[in-house]
Amino acid sequence: LFVVFEGGEGAGKTTQLRLLEEWLSGTGTPVLRTREPGGTEIGERIRTLLLEHGQGEVDARTEALLFAASRAAHVTQKIAPALEAGTVVLCDRYIDSSLAYQGAGRGLGVAEVAEINAWATQGLQPDVTVLLDLDPTLSAQRRAGRDGGAAGDRIESADIAFHAALRQAFLDRAAGAPERYLVLDARQSVAAVHTEIRSHIEARLRR
Ligand code: C5P
Ligand code: MG
Repeated sequence: LFVVFEGGEGAGKTTQLRLLEEWLSGTGTPVLRTREPGGTEIGERIRTLLLEHGQGEVDARTEALLFAASRAAHVTQKIAPALEAGTVVLCDRYIDSSLAYQGAGRGLGVAEVAEINAWATQGLQPDVTVLLDLDPTLSAQRRAGRDGGAAGDRIESADIAFHAALRQAFLDRAAGAPERYLVLDARQSVAAVHTEIRSHIEARLRR
């Protein structure tokens, strides 16, 4: 089972991934938690490269290709072999993040970015995508809290309109394939969100 967590920053993806991993491990389910960009040696180096540069410093096409390259390595070296072995893979961001950030946010076009990613991943799609949906204003507040108000390692500006476009892109994806998405209100407590994710995945594993 391939489970991806998507959503803007401050939505709680990393926290929820950890909680789900802990719960699955506790039930004796083999699980792999990983993230994008990153997840492999090459991927982590691409991540460092991208995060070292501020928004707009790397041109949008180069950025999109680097994310796709990181993803290609990730799928080939890590995700596909784990799925093959029957491991549940939990991934922090995947293709939808590129469609949102590079496709919608940076204006490359969602369809174009989808095409290079389909090629990079050889068409591997998640079985379940958990979309943690959060209002951009709240997302900005959470980010400011976490980063001490500084831009820090963030790529994008704190521009609310940019984040609103990202949010819409994520929601559009979910609307296009509702059977593969679990869209949750990220304003809820950590425990409440975890409970919803857990029952969804539990039902999915029994199927
Ligand atoms: O998931 P995390 O918040 O650690 O992502 C690191 C950064 O990479 C984020 O600030 C996000 O804005 C950026 N990113 C991006 N395009 C992607 C994926 C992530 O700009 N496709
Ligand atoms: Mg995170």
